[in-house]
Amino acid sequence: MSAVNETLIRDVVFEVLGRLNGAVAPAKSSAPAPAAKADCGCSDKRVNITSGGSLSAGSGKYGVFSDANEACAAAHEGFLQLRQKGMAARAKVVEIVKTMAEANAVEWGRIELEETKIGRLDHKIAKLQIIKLVPGVEWLRPDARSGDHGITLEEYTPFGVVAAITPSTHSIPTLSGNVVNIVAAGNGVVFNAHPSAAKCAALAVREYNKAIERETGIRNLITIIETPTLDSFKAICSHDAVRLLCVTGGPMVVKAAMQTGKRAICAGPGNPPVFVDDTCCPTRAAKAIIQGAAFDNNLLCIGEKEVFVLDSVADKLMQRMSENGAVKLNSTQLDQLTKAAFTFKEGQGGGCAQAHTNKEFIGKDPAVLAKAAGVDIKPDTQLLFAETDANHAFVQEEQMMPMLPIVRVKSVEEGIERSLQAEHNYKHTAIIHSHDVENITAMARALDTTLFVKNGPSPAGLGLGGEGYLSFSIATPTGEGITNPKTFTRVRRCVMVDNLRIY
Ligand code: NAD
Repeated sequence: MSAVNETLIRDVVFEVLGRLNGAVAPAKSSAPAPAAKADCGCSDKRVNITSGGSLSAGSGKYGVFSDANEACAAAHEGFLQLRQKGMAARAKVVEIVKTMAEANAVEWGRIELEETKIGRLDHKIAKLQIIKLVPGVEWLRPDARSGDHGITLEEYTPFGVVAAITPSTHSIPTLSGNVVNIVAAGNGVVFNAHPSAAKCAALAVREYNKAIERETGIRNLITIIETPTLDSFKAICSHDAVRLLCVTGGPMVVKAAMQTGKRAICAGPGNPPVFVDDTCCPTRAAKAIIQGAAFDNNLLCIGEKEVFVLDSVADKLMQRMSENGAVKLNSTQLDQLTKAAFTFKEGQGGGCAQAHTNKEFIGKDPAVLAKAAGVDIKPDTQLLFAETDANHAFVQEEQMMPMLPIVRVKSVEEGIERSLQAEHNYKHTAIIHSHDVENITAMARALDTTLFVKNGPSPAGLGLGGEGYLSFSIATPTGEGITNPKTFTRVRRCVMVDNLRIY
């Protein structure tokens, strides 16, 4: 069969499938799609499964669906098409997402900020520019064993459809990073975004699908619910095609995911403590703390949320913070801000652990917090900080504001103990500034967190200034760690008995 005829036939087949599914036909390709099929005239013995099953893909356009069941069914169709087209198509999708995230970073960052009204534009942009650091298909190397009884191959294979829940704090970045990991592993994906960050997420899905259809012919590999609700979450989680959940968010969604009965990879909440001892370099520590805590107005789950510092070095650390872009609040200003930023149960003051964070202060600029505190600050102020006691609401709550509480401690033991208590056993992230390896080791062992950063800002834990790779979903309670393509695979073993070993 000639190459022209094969291309023609492929286009006709896609056209017919598109009509059968009642959805938009994929873009016709003048060049053959990057299929793994050899163009040598041999018959391909793989079964064509792109049209399989009784699942209806419904009427969503470019992956955006109003109905959760249709979104799941369509993602399943997308997965089957991806499976047919092989590794080359996965790599192409990864390349598309990374390239588009970077190319659209300024516009999409602005759109996300306008919708969510939390965080900083420069950092919203940066979070999209770094999607290229998320690992792709190169991460999946099969494991092989060879011995007297032949050879065995273990491959990292897809589940099918993964359902992903994304947070308001980094909607398009989390979605994009999840797509890279999940599709590199060979899966389709259906998203339920946070309602207050759903429009920008749908926009990214639409644009990614347009490019994926154009470049590979695959439709609806990534789907999303246009207006996400708790009901759509439940419908997605109970859909037969969905084999795995990937949840990024706070305690409620982690609990809800674990109650579904499906396997869930949960990237849960954190409240990362920083401990600073007297062996650190105060200037380096101050700069790193500001960099991490000020990033996107402290929306990062890994971001520095409270500092415990040895009394002997506390004044120097705070002085260095003041010299490097942070502004210290006095106790009156702190009290005023605390009353605005939290609500307390009746009869409880500022220094209690039963506070609720007022949403209108989450991820807001330092200027907004400073106004509530009654203080004027320069426009380029990165962060506010104040001395508090260890039980203060700013210490105990995952407050996600650019206001860092600093607590003096008398000993290394007290610093580690208070850090442990403030981390609330989330086992998420902790940071230390120290050059004493015994202190570092003691804190690492006591905190037992998924990420432990030494002498750097928290983003160094995600390959941003430290070694390693990036993901916006750090699976903490379920233990998978910084998610990567392998996280979304099933390990399957293939055994050839007594043969194929070559010596
Ligand atoms: P959130 O928990 O309010 O929402 C996260 C997602 O869960 C949203 O899509 C939301 O619609 C959904 N959701 C919330 N409650 C639900 C329920 N009961 N049932 C079903 N779905 C539900 O969190 P947020 O404010 O959007 O994001 C901030 C939180 O996410 C923080 O706690 C932060 O630490 C955490 N987070 C963790 C990571 C990580 O990698 N571990 C990354 C980013 C954010």
